[in-house]
Amino acid sequence: MPIWILICPECKSEFEHSQISDVGMASLLLPEKPSFEPTGNKCVCPSCGTSATYHRTDLLYRDYPLLRFEWLKRAINKRR
Ligand SMILES: [Zn+2]
Repeated sequence: MPIWILICPECKSEFEHSQISDVGMASLLLPEKPSFEPTGNKCVCPSCGTSATYHRTDLLYRDYPLLRFEWLKRAINKRR
């Protein structure tokens, strides 16, 4: 599943903000970004723990085939 990511201003590592639903994937266009507060949303970087304020424009689209595979595996395991 593709995800929205944010980039930490401190350590520059990418982390997941949210997953993009299959509904969004049905469109050939880039799915709509999740809504943010007008003043920005505070998110904590899982790598270095830095809390920073992010805006909707900071969201980047990522589709990691490997992650998709991992999620698929997890989804299959859950069903058992
Ligand atoms: Zn960081």
